[in-house]
Amino acid sequence: MTDRSFDYDVIVAGGGSAGVAAAAASARMGARTLLVERYNCLGGASTMRNVATYCGLYTLGESPRRVVGGIGEEVMQGLRKQGAVSGPRRYRGVSVAFDPEAVKFVLDELAAAAGVTVMFSSFVAAAERRDGRMRTATVAGHSGLKTFSARAFVDCTGEGDLAAFAGASTRYGNGADVNLGTLATRFGGIAPSAPLTPRRIAEAVAGLGAKANSVTKDRAAAVRLPISGDVVLHLASEDYDPRDSLSMSAAEVRGRRQTWAYLEALRTIEGCEDAYLVSTGPEFGTRESRHLNCQRQLTWDDIENRAGFEDCIALGGWGAEWHDRATYLSSLDFPPDRGAYEIPLGCLRSVDTANLFCAGRLADGDRKAGAAIRVMGTAFATGQAAGIAATLEADGRFAVSAVQAALRKQDAILDPADIPS
Ligand SMILES: Cc1cc2nc3c(=O)[nH]c(=O)nc-3n(C[C@H](O)[C@H](O)[C@H](O)COP(=O)(O)OP(=O)(O)OC[C@H]3O[C@@H](n4cnc5c(N)ncnc54)[C@H](O)[C@@H]3O)c2cc1C
Repeated sequence: MTDRSFDYDVIVAGGGSAGVAAAAASARMGARTLLVERYNCLGGASTMRNVATYCGLYTLGESPRRVVGGIGEEVMQGLRKQGAVSGPRRYRGVSVAFDPEAVKFVLDELAAAAGVTVMFSSFVAAAERRDGRMRTATVAGHSGLKTFSARAFVDCTGEGDLAAFAGASTRYGNGADVNLGTLATRFGGIAPSAPLTPRRIAEAVAGLGAKANSVTKDRAAAVRLPISGDVVLHLASEDYDPRDSLSMSAAEVRGRRQTWAYLEALRTIEGCEDAYLVSTGPEFGTRESRHLNCQRQLTWDDIENRAGFEDCIALGGWGAEWHDRATYLSSLDFPPDRGAYEIPLGCLRSVDTANLFCAGRLADGDRKAGAAIRVMGTAFATGQAAGIAATLEADGRFAVSAVQAALRKQDAILDPADIPS
């Protein structure tokens, strides 16, 4: 008898915002869905990199409008039930802050309720692609290597590991352009009244004197977490190659060294005298690594020209947020009228591997469009779409109209006309 425990309809690699949405959407359609995650919790950057604000859930205009429904909205409802979310707040863009422990809990529950088989502590270390289709993924865990097969796959690793290891078409960044990485850091012991404006933080960093040369960025928006009142700052940044473990290791060590200097600076700000370090990372925050080369690439021109797509599967709300490797400066370019824009399914489907999809920060966008659609609010939406598309592909029923119909059934928002007021 065949051992079915190694055979799935859909395998999703990576359990961040995109991967959870992909796996839950797939399992809800009745597919046997395996979600493989290298760490021991879901959430990706939201739980393992101290990235504690969802961007992309709302448009950025005067009256923000919600552009993500479906699973993204269910996560928000789960967090609200835990009293673990605050906002929307406005700083440059519009975002909500959340408590990472509550995210772990809400995502565990969501995946379990959908019927996803979640496999933690499991690193996708190899994959097989034959005759233009993905066949298997091999996972490394404490029991060694195990190989799983499926009829369709979704790469939500952020790093493009599944696609790259299988030999599907990928690229690193966009030409010479790759966003900078940052070690997000959580501080406690900060008074609610502390004036943690980017300008005040920059003054405090300058006050380090000669030591200021040992750190990289000098300003950041402070994010106050809803339950603990802890503050997250995105300061220590490094130019490294996340595909190279030694390059990444050096960045981690330098980032932690920088963090202690930032703590010293922080303690000179009124109300922060007793500040202490709660956690770095745990992992350095890689904003950009590989992308899948997909059937279509979303461009910033598309966004600026308000392109409409017949295969639209999600709406974006965030702007092109760039963190520059040469200058360590950050910028945010807004979409037209700070409104919603369309994201096509083509930028989630591999150009050379029909049963391989991607979502989140792997979704195919040019330098600026990619920097806009990678955020976590949008990752829930592209993840849900990729999970549904993969399920239909696994079933031999893939059609754009079927993906859109299933998304609507799962309460996703695909059309600017459907945005709730
Ligand atoms: C410093 C920083 C600040 C940011 N600020 C914001 C912000 O304020 N708001 C916002 O919305 N976005 C922000 N972003 C962007 C956002 O965090 C990412 O673009 C987003 O997390 C993408 O979601 P994802 O699911 O594609 O990837 P991730 O969240 O990175 O999840 C990928 C998952 O795959 C797993 N994985 C990777 N490789 C493997 C493998 N080989 N095998 C098994 N599992 C694997 C990882 O462990 C992880 O759980 C920020 C990013 C950084 C780095």
